[in-house]
Amino acid sequence: MRFNINIAYIKRLVPLLVYNKGYKYYLGMRVEDLSFDSNKNSVSGNVQGNKLYETSVIFDKSGDASGFRCNCPYKGLCKHVVALML
Ligand SMILES: [Zn+2]
Repeated sequence: MRFNINIAYIKRLVPLLVYNKGYKYYLGMRVEDLSFDSNKNSVSGNVQGNKLYETSVIFDKSGDASGFRCNCPYKGLCKHVVALML
Protein backbone atom coordinates (compact mmCIF):
# COMPACT_ATOMS: atom_id res chain seq x y z
CA MET A 1 0.00 0.00 0.00
CA ARG A 2 1.34 3.38 -1.01
CA PHE A 3 0.03 6.64 0.30
CA ASN A 4 0.05 9.70 -1.89
CA ILE A 5 0.88 12.03 0.92
CA ASN A 6 3.85 14.31 1.16
CA ILE A 7 4.69 17.58 2.81
CA ALA A 8 3.65 19.71 -0.16
CA TYR A 9 0.30 17.95 -0.22
CA ILE A 10 -0.30 18.47 3.49
CA LYS A 11 0.68 22.14 3.22
CA ARG A 12 -1.99 22.63 0.56
CA LEU A 13 -4.63 21.13 2.84
CA VAL A 14 -4.16 23.24 5.93
CA PRO A 15 -3.20 26.80 6.84
CA LEU A 16 0.50 27.23 7.55
CA LEU A 17 -0.21 27.85 11.22
CA VAL A 18 -1.92 24.48 11.55
CA TYR A 19 0.85 22.79 9.59
CA ASN A 20 3.53 24.27 11.86
CA LYS A 21 1.71 23.14 14.99
CA GLY A 22 1.29 19.65 13.58
CA TYR A 23 4.96 19.58 12.63
CA LYS A 24 5.93 20.47 16.21
CA TYR A 25 3.75 17.62 17.45
CA TYR A 26 5.44 15.29 15.02
CA LEU A 27 8.92 16.40 16.12
CA GLY A 28 7.87 16.08 19.74
CA MET A 29 7.05 12.39 19.17
CA ARG A 30 3.48 12.98 20.20
CA VAL A 31 2.02 10.42 17.82
CA GLU A 32 1.52 7.05 19.48
CA ASP A 33 0.11 3.66 18.62
CA LEU A 34 0.24 4.09 14.85
CA SER A 35 -1.67 1.34 13.13
CA PHE A 36 -2.94 0.46 9.69
CA ASP A 37 -6.37 -1.10 9.23
CA SER A 38 -6.44 -2.92 5.91
CA ASN A 39 -10.22 -3.40 6.02
CA LYS A 40 -10.96 0.29 6.38
CA ASN A 41 -7.80 1.28 4.51
CA SER A 42 -7.05 3.77 7.23
CA VAL A 43 -4.13 4.79 9.36
CA SER A 44 -4.89 5.56 12.97
CA GLY A 45 -2.92 6.90 15.85
CA ASN A 46 -3.24 8.69 19.14
CA VAL A 47 -1.87 12.20 19.29
CA GLN A 48 -0.97 13.76 22.60
CA GLY A 49 -2.26 17.31 22.72
CA ASN A 50 -4.04 18.95 25.61
CA LYS A 51 -5.67 15.56 25.82
CA LEU A 52 -5.03 12.32 23.96
CA TYR A 53 -6.87 12.53 20.66
CA GLU A 54 -7.85 9.63 18.47
CA THR A 55 -6.97 10.52 14.93
CA SER A 56 -7.23 8.68 11.64
CA VAL A 57 -6.79 9.20 7.93
CA ILE A 58 -8.77 7.12 5.44
CA PHE A 59 -7.35 6.36 2.00
CA ASP A 60 -9.05 5.37 -1.22
CA LYS A 61 -7.77 2.55 -3.45
CA SER A 62 -5.31 4.76 -5.31
CA GLY A 63 -3.68 5.86 -2.07
CA ASP A 64 -5.15 9.33 -1.94
CA ALA A 65 -6.44 10.58 1.37
CA SER A 66 -10.22 10.54 1.22
CA GLY A 67 -11.18 11.35 4.77
CA PHE A 68 -9.85 12.61 8.07
CA ARG A 69 -11.08 12.07 11.56
CA CYS A 70 -10.08 13.47 14.90
CA ASN A 71 -12.06 13.76 18.10
CA CYS A 72 -10.68 17.17 19.05
CA PRO A 73 -12.94 20.25 19.02
CA TYR A 74 -11.19 21.91 16.07
CA LYS A 75 -13.39 22.00 12.99
CA GLY A 76 -11.72 20.97 9.81
CA LEU A 77 -8.33 19.42 9.31
CA CYS A 78 -6.43 19.85 12.56
CA LYS A 79 -2.85 19.77 13.74
CA HIS A 80 -3.34 16.27 15.12
CA VAL A 81 -4.14 14.90 11.68
CA VAL A 82 -1.14 16.78 10.28
CA ALA A 83 1.11 15.18 12.90
CA LEU A 84 -0.30 11.76 12.03
CA MET A 85 0.28 12.22 8.29
CA LEU A 86 3.84 13.39 8.74
ZN1 LIG B 1 -7.43 17.12 16.19
